[in-house]
Amino acid sequence: THFGFEEVPVSDKQKRVAGVFTSVAAKYDVMNDVMSMGIHRIWKRFAIDLAAVRPGEKVLDVAGGTGDLAREFSKAAGPKGLVVLSDINAAMLGEGRSRLADKGIVNVPVTQLNAEKVPFPDDTFDLITIGFGLRNVTDKDAALRSMTHCLKPGGRLLVLEFSKPLSAPLAKLYDQYSFKFLPLMGKLVANDADSYRYLAESIRMHPDQQTLKGMMEGAGLSRVQVYNLTGGIVAVHRGFKL
Ligand code: SAM
Repeated sequence: THFGFEEVPVSDKQKRVAGVFTSVAAKYDVMNDVMSMGIHRIWKRFAIDLAAVRPGEKVLDVAGGTGDLAREFSKAAGPKGLVVLSDINAAMLGEGRSRLADKGIVNVPVTQLNAEKVPFPDDTFDLITIGFGLRNVTDKDAALRSMTHCLKPGGRLLVLEFSKPLSAPLAKLYDQYSFKFLPLMGKLVANDADSYRYLAESIRMHPDQQTLKGMMEGAGLSRVQVYNLTGGIVAVHRGFKL
């Protein structure tokens, strides 16, 4: 920059997020199981059931990482449907692609994209999902608008994300878990306490249930409903483009 060159405008947050996921990509699934004691599978199952993908539907999974959601959607959408797995991070997508291939799923195209600027035409998808991804996005309002644009009229957006525990005792317990136990486990299992400290911080900073609902309405979604899971530790928000 001393010579007048502008750096590519990537925010500090984006760099940090890229670093975190590039460093954990290979161990990502194991860590998910360890950190959530397997419960993330139940949260994902709930979102998959609520998504209720029908044969022939077009689905985009944003921040799809290793493809847990895309895999189930592709089974439900069947040969006449289309499921696209996307993520901003090439290392995560690489893991995703090979995991899908391991399971014999080869009809899910994989594409690298930023949730803030989803590069598909308006009115393309019946369903767009973002699972444990929105809290990593710098401009969440832009992401919600961009995803909403790409939905067909009548289409739905599903956001699966950490949220705010509904009761004070649970919130306290959960804080201990996030800021003490998580970084310690991150150190032991992946030799990477920092990534898991980042995880805890990003969860704490994320908008709570009602705030996110308002943001989704602001982005143009209707009939937004909130489903609290595990006492509000996680929530699924679903809204429709009418
Ligand atoms: N959806 C998967 C799941 O539930 O297992 C992966 C979730 S993982 C915790 C979060 C993902 O968000 C990472 O793969 C990361 O690369 C991706 N991500 C972060 N910022 C993003 C952005 N701006 N646009 C798209 N993906 C992003």
